[in-house]
Amino acid sequence: MNVDTIAAISTALGEGAIGIVRLSGDQAIDISDKLFKGTTKLSDVKTHTITYGHLVESNEVIEEAMVTVMHGPKTYTRENIVEINCHGGLVSVNRVLQAALSHGARLAEPGEFTKRAFLNGRIDLSQAEGVMDLIRSKSDQAMNVAMRQVEGRLSGKIQHLRQQLLETVAAVEVNIDYPEYDAETMTQQIIREKMRPVLVEIDHLLVTAKQGKVLREGLATAIIGRPNVGKSSLMNSLVHESKAIVTDIPGTTRDTLEEYVNVRGVPLRLIDTAGIRETEDIVEKIGVERSRKALKEAELILLVLNNSEPLTMEDEALFEAVEDMDVVIIVNKTDQKQAIDIKKVHQFANGRPVVTTSLIHDEGVDQLEEAIKQLFFAGDIEGQDLTYVSNARHIGLLNEARRRAEDALQATEMDVPVDLIQIDVTRTWELLGEIIGEDVQDSLIDQLFSQFCLGK
Ligand code: GDP
Ligand code: ZN
Repeated sequence: MNVDTIAAISTALGEGAIGIVRLSGDQAIDISDKLFKGTTKLSDVKTHTITYGHLVESNEVIEEAMVTVMHGPKTYTRENIVEINCHGGLVSVNRVLQAALSHGARLAEPGEFTKRAFLNGRIDLSQAEGVMDLIRSKSDQAMNVAMRQVEGRLSGKIQHLRQQLLETVAAVEVNIDYPEYDAETMTQQIIREKMRPVLVEIDHLLVTAKQGKVLREGLATAIIGRPNVGKSSLMNSLVHESKAIVTDIPGTTRDTLEEYVNVRGVPLRLIDTAGIRETEDIVEKIGVERSRKALKEAELILLVLNNSEPLTMEDEALFEAVEDMDVVIIVNKTDQKQAIDIKKVHQFANGRPVVTTSLIHDEGVDQLEEAIKQLFFAGDIEGQDLTYVSNARHIGLLNEARRRAEDALQATEMDVPVDLIQIDVTRTWELLGEIIGEDVQDSLIDQLFSQFCLGK
């Protein structure tokens, strides 16, 4: 095996006093030795030790460094890894990276260390995807979800499900081997008993998917309302109340139109905030017709009304525009004399939450935050043992697996031959395997043999 050696700066750019350049591959140690001057060569030091020395390029000392040498396979990528810890800022870290590249390393693609960890069997696919999500995660909550995925929580659940399916297949096979029983009826019953909980568990994972996506990407939220009702005020109080305004992710450019706020664990991605902040009123400026278009992207609408004025045609048009969406209605300016018909507001709301606020006095914001939270998490999510599925590929596979599992269950109610039902059970098992990146060819058979010694 001869893989090329990759290198990258593995600390956040521009941050902190320490920078790490990481190399991974067969040549990682040899390449580092070409830069390194110390009392010993790096190829002579023991694995998993740190060595002090200088980095020299064209006879010029460019850095003082602590270098960690780790021989594969007991490393993150299972390849040889060298981590060069330099102090000093971006410039010197970059110089070290450049030097490594000039001596034969290749600049790593984003996520390539993790990809290698996966390809070399160090982590499974869902764990690799967890690492990717971790890098991109936009809130503390999202970070936790990603962390759990990295730790293999999702993998664990999937493996458990697959084991159930495997046992189903095995049980049925065994049963077919003993024709003295009423094999057909028995096997149908076995399949029903085993498949029902599997289906329940897949459903559970799918329910968490919506929440997982929200946690990962932030809930696209639009604040709409007529001029002067209090949209800017609302945005400002959300931003100010927010305990953790999500910061930029290194390496991405900030979209000036978006602002992230964390409302009781629900990360909101406020869209079109520039429209609200700078031009004051989108509805007025671009008209209801176009704001309707802007609404398409939104997953949550905060519709603001003015307590001190009667409902207008414009208000009604906005209600109409968000008919099928998740909406929280905010009746603002309750410190002023009520002129709005609150009964009518509730009619338009049609069961969706209505909160009253006096934003100028900072009143009602708590209830608003609670309403937003309730909309997405029926209950407190903190401290709950949920395994969020937040990856589109996983969700797709789970949906397909669900259909197959359901087909199998339904088939047991009809006169479908058992070996046909087994196909659906097996396919469910395969689809779940794809989530954790298992090679499915023949492995069901292999596992059946290794675990149950069928066929003697
Ligand atoms: P927007 O045009 O919808 O963005 O509304 P703004 O947030 O800019 O508010 C319009 C005006 O209403 C400003 O003068 C605010 O200070 C005022 N305002 C906002 N909320 C309240 C409130 O709860 N009570 C009162 N009395 N005035 C408010
Ligand atoms: Zn405004």
